[in-house]
Amino acid sequence: RIVYVNGSYVPEEEAKVSVFDRAFLMADGIYEVTTVVGGKLIDFAGHMARLGRSLAALKMTPPADTEALLAIHRELVVRNGLDEGLIYLQVSRGSADRDFSFPPEGTPPTLVLFTQKVAVLERESVRSGIKVASVPDLRWGLRDIKTVQLLYPSMAKMEAKSKGADDAWMVESDGTVTEGSSNNAYIITKAGTLVTRALSHAILHGITRLAVLRLARETGLTVEERSFTLDEAKDAREAFITSASAFVTPVVSIDGQRIGDGTPGETTKRMREIYIAESLATAI
Ligand code: PLP
Repeated sequence: RIVYVNGSYVPEEEAKVSVFDRAFLMADGIYEVTTVVGGKLIDFAGHMARLGRSLAALKMTPPADTEALLAIHRELVVRNGLDEGLIYLQVSRGSADRDFSFPPEGTPPTLVLFTQKVAVLERESVRSGIKVASVPDLRWGLRDIKTVQLLYPSMAKMEAKSKGADDAWMVESDGTVTEGSSNNAYIITKAGTLVTRALSHAILHGITRLAVLRLARETGLTVEERSFTLDEAKDAREAFITSASAFVTPVVSIDGQRIGDGTPGETTKRMREIYIAESLATAI
């Protein structure tokens, strides 16, 4: 695999960053994951807009402009013959002697991109739906910044797996669901209303979430952006998650409790189809 590191395309064995890189020492880095289908990028503009927000929130120097980043994405698709998969992009504050203060102005950011060949259209998790287990949300308070500080979500996923589930739904101390370990969480109530948590510092502002909510409203679904409790979710007619790589993926049980009849819901399946159709039609 050919990866991109700070201006060079190199075989992955030769790709190197400093041990003093701030992402390595302090998780002082941010990332984006863009999905590729048919060699084209899904919602590239959305991912770059969020990258800009993460950079601004952390006062990090942009590593390159959007046009240059698009060129790197496309070059990696070509060099790796990537038809279907993901492109991971990471920016860190660069390398500097270990210090809690940010390094001096002008320290060049580290930019790394690599591809991952994975199936996104056809997945077993879509046919059968996934099981989720609740885990307390013990992450830091600025979850809307897409930092590489992923230890707690990783632990949450392992905890969920140890309970026989596929992923975690993280829950605040007031009993409301925030999101999955790497995806946004939704329910469809018995009245047919689509409910997902409102945007705040408590969740990552999913690029897929934005598109799915717009499409849901366009198809005439009633959408409520509000918190819901774990109990309300367990009593829902349907549940699903969204992310750049999962698109819309059904949730069929929560803490061992079946959702609806325990199979992927009809509205969920329809939203997946609509989302994929639009994404493929607008991919660049
Ligand atoms: N929430 C969290 C915590 C995530 O890590 C992610 C994606 O990685 C998402 C939600 C979904 O965001 P997107 O739809 O932009 O992939």
